[in-house]
Amino acid sequence: MSAEDELSLLVIIVDTNPIWWGKKAQGEAEQFTLSKCIDAAMVLGNSHLFMNRTNRLAVIASHTQESRFLYPGKRWAVADLFGDGGTSMEYNCSGSKDGKYELLTAINDAIAEEIKDLMTKTDMRGEQTETLLAGSLAKALCSNVDINKMSKELKANQEMKSRILVIKAAEDSALQYMNFMNVIFAAQKQSVLIDACVLDSDSGLLQQACDITGGIYLKVPHMPSLLQYLLWVFLPDQELRSQLVLPPPIHVDYRAACFCHRNLIEIGYVCSVCLSIFCNFSPICSTCETAFKISLPPVMKAKKKKLKLSA
Ligand SMILES: [Zn+2]
Ligand SMILES: [Zn+2]
Repeated sequence: MSAEDELSLLVIIVDTNPIWWGKKAQGEAEQFTLSKCIDAAMVLGNSHLFMNRTNRLAVIASHTQESRFLYPGKRWAVADLFGDGGTSMEYNCSGSKDGKYELLTAINDAIAEEIKDLMTKTDMRGEQTETLLAGSLAKALCSNVDINKMSKELKANQEMKSRILVIKAAEDSALQYMNFMNVIFAAQKQSVLIDACVLDSDSGLLQQACDITGGIYLKVPHMPSLLQYLLWVFLPDQELRSQLVLPPPIHVDYRAACFCHRNLIEIGYVCSVCLSIFCNFSPICSTCETAFKISLPPVMKAKKKKLKLSA
C-alpha cells in the first residue's frame, strides 16, 4: 500500500481551562501562557500537514463549559478535511503575505479566532471548573468515525490511521472517571492511538488511556520547551516511533475511582451484578440497587468478596 492510500488524522486536544491558565499567568516566574501553548500546538499541526499531502488535522479546545472544534470550525466544510489541499474551502484566504502556505495561514487564523471567541464567551461565574476532557475525547472519536466514513465514500480501499494528542493542563476530574474509561475502550476498539502531553500534575486517567491504546505519555519537564517535545515525541507516527529513542514508558497508576466518593482506591468492594466499585461496604448497590442478603454482623458475613483491584 502506498502512502497516498493512507489518510493519517491527527486530532489535537488542548486543555483551555481558564482557571488553570489564569493561575499560571499570575504565579510562575517562567511565563508560559495559553497563547504560547496554542502556538506550539499550531506548529505541530502545521508540521503534521506538511509531512504528507494526505495528512489531516483537527484541533479541539477542551474547556470548562464546552468542547469546541477550533479547526475545522463552522467556516470549514467537513469535506476540507480530505479534499485536495482544501480547494473547496469557503474560508476567504487573503493570500500569503510572508510566503507561508495559504492553507496553514487560514487554519492558524481560524484557530486563533475561535479561541478568542471561546475565551470571551466563558462565563466565569459558572460552577463548572473542571476541564471537560472526556467529552473532548468523545468528540475526537466521533470526528474520526465521520471522516473515516466520508473518505471511504470518496476512495475505495483508502486506509485511515488516527491518533489523538491531549495537551493537558488542569488536574484530573474523578467525576469523569466512567465516561473517560468508556471513551478509552471505544478508542482501543477503533484502534485510535491516544497520546498525552501533560504540562503540570500527572494524570492517572491519561496514563491508562495511553497504556491501553499504545500511545505515549509524557510529562513535560520544562513547560516553555513544550514545542520541542511536541515535535520530537508526538510528530512521528506509530510506524516511525519504533525507530526512535523516545522517553521510556512510565509506571501506570491503575487505581480505579470508587463510585461513592470518586476517590482513587487500590482495594475496594465490587458489586457482583453491575461491577460498580465502592470503598465502603453498603448493603444496597447504589448503581443497580441490588440488595445483598446479609445477616449480622454485616461486615463479617458480607457475601461480597473483597477484591484486589490492582491486579
Ligand atoms: Zn467511596
Ligand atoms: Zn450493582
